[in-house]
Amino acid sequence: MSDKSSYKKETKLMHAGRKPENYFGVVNPPICRTSTILYDDLAAYFDPNTKYRYGRVNNPLSEAFEEAISELEGGHHAISTSCGLSAITTTMLSFLENGDHVLIVDSCYPPTRFFANKQLQSFGIEVEYYDPLIGDGIRQLIKDNTKMIYLESPGSATFEVQDVPEIVKVAQEFGVITVMDNTYSAGVLFKPLSHGVNISVQSAAKYLGGHSDVNLGVAVADSEAHYRRMKACAMNLGVCAGAEDLYLAMRGLRTLEMRLDYAYTNMLPVLAWFWRRKEVQEVYNPTLKKSGGHKIWKRDYKAANGLFSVLFKPEYTIDHISKFVDALNLFPVGSSWGGYESLIQPQDMDIYRSDWKKEGVFLRFQIGNENPQDLIDDLEQGIQNLHI
Ligand SMILES: *Cc1c(COP(=O)(O)O)cnc(C)c1O
Repeated sequence: MSDKSSYKKETKLMHAGRKPENYFGVVNPPICRTSTILYDDLAAYFDPNTKYRYGRVNNPLSEAFEEAISELEGGHHAISTSCGLSAITTTMLSFLENGDHVLIVDSCYPPTRFFANKQLQSFGIEVEYYDPLIGDGIRQLIKDNTKMIYLESPGSATFEVQDVPEIVKVAQEFGVITVMDNTYSAGVLFKPLSHGVNISVQSAAKYLGGHSDVNLGVAVADSEAHYRRMKACAMNLGVCAGAEDLYLAMRGLRTLEMRLDYAYTNMLPVLAWFWRRKEVQEVYNPTLKKSGGHKIWKRDYKAANGLFSVLFKPEYTIDHISKFVDALNLFPVGSSWGGYESLIQPQDMDIYRSDWKKEGVFLRFQIGNENPQDLIDDLEQGIQNLHI
């Protein structure tokens, strides 16, 4: 038998977290519904090495998922949580204390900002936002009480790509912990931990789940010490993952690379259709030369995912844009992304970027697994309705 550690990443992904021998040969780790876990005897109850104690704390399926994502991200150990946002908030609360200063990227997922502005500030934690393209310039923002630099790349709506190695270098120089929201890359397109980031966080609702039916989050730590802090915090907060969601994400994992590849190649022609349209002021996607941090994307990323955004010219009001969107058959309006179906989600840019000054309706597109020509044909017929 060959040595498992010599397998290439695609092969490893087919085996990550699986232990058929524990389940009579059943291929996928089964859904594990449990709160109570029984002990053999009182001695087992008091034994600190007893593996499973209570469903919320850990169980065979949550462990399988954590092990698999940890392997995918090249980490030490992971915690699974109820959703991506709770993975983010649990991670922040694991390391931040009253009096600390946290630097958060200004292009972050908006609920991350709401949490920081409301909860973190009310706990006496100083919150400051920085430009996603700051790079090494972040050193000017480091203070005596800076505890954490929080990254998200590419940004959620405008897709600026951060210079992660530069920021990590500064963080390490000052002994500051780095946390990155890596949902965009799903642990495949970019590996934060291999660039020195301490914690990589993901919403498994996106490409990991891949079918718009999962609420699950995961945070992967680079060391036992960081993992222990996060696990303790998750236990204190009562954060845990749902059994069915864990199962579905494990299943999604096996087709993750293929779906991401497909999303990327499907996205490109639809993106190209948009940048040729006269109604469009700007398109946002890291593959475009003028996109913020495009060179860094080329240097650090394997590919892009299926997302891009479109800013329409200011003369097209929301009423005009509604006529276009409502005429589309293949682009329902809905939150989230990473599923098999194309979607449109309007974005309120005033909450996405503190310095947003551009006018015009802003829509984010998620391109699914439909045939791209069908998508373009649908857009062609839909845009005929966009008349001033
Ligand atoms: C969706 C999303 C989240 C939050 O994930 P949920 O699972 O919806 O809580 C966090 N970060 C990014 C970049 C996301 O797109």
